[in-house]
Amino acid sequence: MGPSAKAIHVPESALLYAAYVIDCAGIYFATAPVTTMNLKFLLTCEHGGNRIPARYRDLFAGCEPLLASHRGWDPGALVLARDFAAALRAKLFHSTTSRLLVELNRSMGHPQLFSAPVRGLPRRAREELVERFYRPYRDRVEARIAAEAGRGELVVHLSCHSFTPVLDGVERNADIGLLFDPRHSLETQVCAAWQQQLRASDASLVVRRNYPYRGTADGFTTYLRRRFDERNYIGIELEVNQKFPMGDAPGWEALRPKLIRSFAEALTVLRPAESGGRVASAPAVGSRHAPVARHGHRALPSFGRVAPALRAGK
Ligand SMILES: [Zn+2]
Repeated sequence: MGPSAKAIHVPESALLYAAYVIDCAGIYFATAPVTTMNLKFLLTCEHGGNRIPARYRDLFAGCEPLLASHRGWDPGALVLARDFAAALRAKLFHSTTSRLLVELNRSMGHPQLFSAPVRGLPRRAREELVERFYRPYRDRVEARIAAEAGRGELVVHLSCHSFTPVLDGVERNADIGLLFDPRHSLETQVCAAWQQQLRASDASLVVRRNYPYRGTADGFTTYLRRRFDERNYIGIELEVNQKFPMGDAPGWEALRPKLIRSFAEALTVLRPAESGGRVASAPAVGSRHAPVARHGHRALPSFGRVAPALRAGK
């Protein structure tokens, strides 16, 4: 955790209305509880390291350069996820095992679930990798969301990643990517606001939405969106250019608090409409955990109508 992140505090499930003060030591959020809604933050980092457990090391003999590259892990992503988790007092799930063993950010059956060295293993050995590394991670995250969604809370899941500045000889023209589903109303609004806040905090930052990947491409958040009602789950992938953690140390130290602060500011779009928020939608009341049709066309209730019921019922 960077020194700047230690000073950032956003109380769990009582976020927002951030009257925040910046001083030389860091950022402090003075918050008022949002009694009409309950946000739960969840951080994940699927590509936090490039470790290969001893029993699988022979498979990767000679693959050291591959493991060390962006194909093996996401440099900086875990540092960033830890900063966010500390600032938001949020639960963090992370993996430091290389994505080349089994790719936690791909669905079962996806061609990229296993890398080339692993694909040569017998089926039983590949199944064992799924049972030992993939399922425990994915199931724990999903169970956590299910528990909170089941209590009617809105889970804001941030999955932290980093991307290589140059892929196949082509330079990526972004510093930050925010990946979401454009059909998910709350994700869309939060990411638009986040992009705006980031640009306002640092005009030199190139912030793009659904770049360098589409938020609807196969991934953990895409899977989770199918599992949970959009009133209970927001899944955003944060992608940071590896030029920061891999080279620009002062820039990297400065960037992380900016990302956290702008994120908290962006969440004010979730404020109830009656208190001046821009979003007239609410998390579900007493929702259940069950697979739902993706992006059901049910109208979201407005905060104005739902808030009194929430106050009475909670
Ligand atoms: Zn990643």
